[in-house]
Amino acid sequence: MSEPIVRFRAVSKSYDGRAQVVAGLDLDIARGEFLTLLGPSGSGKTTTLMMLAGFEDPSEGSIELEGRRIDTVPPHKRGIGVVFQNYALFPHMTVAQNLAFPLSVRGTSRAEIAARTAKALEMVRLSGFGDRRPQQLSGGQQQRVALARALIFSPTLVLMDEPLGALDKQLREELQLEIRRIHATLGVTIVYVTHDQSEALTMSDRIAVFEGGRIQQLGTADAIYERPANAFVAGFIGENNRMEAVVADSTTLRLADGTMLPTAPHGFSTGEHVLACIRPEKVRLAEAGHPATVTEVVYLGDHCRLRLSFAGLPDFFAKRASEDGMAVPRQGEAVFLGIPDTAVMVFRASSP
Ligand code: ADP
Ligand code: MG
Repeated sequence: MSEPIVRFRAVSKSYDGRAQVVAGLDLDIARGEFLTLLGPSGSGKTTTLMMLAGFEDPSEGSIELEGRRIDTVPPHKRGIGVVFQNYALFPHMTVAQNLAFPLSVRGTSRAEIAARTAKALEMVRLSGFGDRRPQQLSGGQQQRVALARALIFSPTLVLMDEPLGALDKQLREELQLEIRRIHATLGVTIVYVTHDQSEALTMSDRIAVFEGGRIQQLGTADAIYERPANAFVAGFIGENNRMEAVVADSTTLRLADGTMLPTAPHGFSTGEHVLACIRPEKVRLAEAGHPATVTEVVYLGDHCRLRLSFAGLPDFFAKRASEDGMAVPRQGEAVFLGIPDTAVMVFRASSP
């Protein structure tokens, strides 16, 4: 990585002097990247973002922006734009006045403000809405204005904290693509916070998975999905069937009911208790293999979701992509499951 735009070094944060809500955070953010902090509620994402914005101070460690400790850079010189979930537009100002605000506090000329406002409205597809007040706009439109306002002074870094959290699914997906497009067009660095894994997978160059104030894994969407670092990441991103198992030998796991699953449990010793995870979409219905019974079929258009009783487990799920002429299994049907050894992920039973 070339010189990172942001560097967290051993950053910890405690609000009460006891509980660390961010613990020993080391993170380099590359110039121009779209980095998402993904994790459950309370995992320390917002606190991390607030420290980067300069609204909270780290209890320990340091944060560098463009090679300088952030606490030595005055806020108006940090060049950071922010967008939050609850729009935070000024209700008594028009859209154009809202957009002009970050420019006028920086002493931009009237002509420049007018030109930039027009361009920013065009970028978020709201040309012609400059004279409206926020309450005359839909939630999605208000959030577009908030986006435009965060970008209007050409910041090098934009922080977004669950910016689409208040919107319904369709609008959220539309704006996800819009933000991606803006990111690609402007080449700005974006640090994005969400608890929604599909949003993180859709948008990010890299994802930092947070839990308990620590990064559990940092990587591209496919690396995190295909090669989760621990059981927490495997469970939080995508769906998984989770099973207790024992390492039978170097190529086999034994489930509680005695079912043997071929896999390669690297780094584990025979007899060790482990957690096995299998993604539903990796399970095949086969001519032969592990016997199972279909207990529920949910038709979802592009795929079927099967609940199975397998290996003594009451709930084992498989997804079956819909294909032309495919027979949909029926409830109560006896089937065979093909579980490729590469589909079985093995984790330490005690991992987070
Ligand atoms: P996230 O954004 O991942 O949901 P937060 O960073 O908001 O997580 O919170 C992490 C932890 O810090 C939570 O336990 C939360 O209750 C606590 N916390 C957040 N902000 C404050 C604050 N201003 N004062 C005290 N505790 C806080
Ligand atoms: Mg938060």
